[in-house]
Amino acid sequence: MDSSVPRFKRILIKLSGEALMGDADYGLDPDALSEICTQIKDVREMGVEVSIVVGGGNIFRGPRQSKSAGVHRVTGDSMGMLATVINALALQDTLEAMGVHTRVVTAIRMEAVAEPYIRRRAIRHLEKGRIVIFAAGTGLPFFTTDTAAALRASEVEAEVLLKATQVDGVYSADPKLDSKATRFNELTYMQVLQKDLKVMDATAISLCKDTDLPIIIFDLHRRGNLMRVVSGESLGTLVNSGE
Ligand code: UDP
Repeated sequence: MDSSVPRFKRILIKLSGEALMGDADYGLDPDALSEICTQIKDVREMGVEVSIVVGGGNIFRGPRQSKSAGVHRVTGDSMGMLATVINALALQDTLEAMGVHTRVVTAIRMEAVAEPYIRRRAIRHLEKGRIVIFAAGTGLPFFTTDTAAALRASEVEAEVLLKATQVDGVYSADPKLDSKATRFNELTYMQVLQKDLKVMDATAISLCKDTDLPIIIFDLHRRGNLMRVVSGESLGTLVNSGE
């Protein structure tokens, strides 16, 4: 296989907020940001059109933290969505400092900070080689950024949703707790839903199933892994229709 020829023309990478905080318990870590953005720049330089959905869990996680913060769940979800904007701006600045052109587009309008999400405009940015960072999730409470990733990937017709995690795929049980846990190389959407595997929430998986969008779950913490996946190496776990 020629690793310089990408397997995908257009991808969407889902990054969790936690990926940006490094070893800290909260917030942003410049080294983690730089490590991730270097990998993203490398795949952009292969000629791949790159879009990103970033989470906000390193700053505020709506359902879990609303109660402790004493706010309504819907307010907490808005706070979570705003947290994703902070992360998107951090990614943007880190990528731009590396000479990569980017646009942050938000599902909640805030024109002083970033442009609003308009599908055809986002696609145009991708065609021009800009990395598009989708922020503020879906713009709606009770959803997750995994669902936002499935939604935006389907809308811009990305060929694959690359779900970056801290483990090298999907396991039958938590490998840290169960030594017999085995890693799946491939799964169908139905298997993920029926076995209730912790890949993404059911709304996100259902949407991927509906739009026949393959998902690859892989470990972003190993340097070069993003490029390996984009080059077509079979890393992590592939979720598709099985057909
Ligand atoms: N959120 C939301 N609607 C969305 C996306 C996110 O309300 O469409 C809120 C929700 O409260 C979520 C938080 O934003 O908990 C942060 O997103 P998420 O937990 O998915 O981030 P990650 O776990 O990927 O860091």
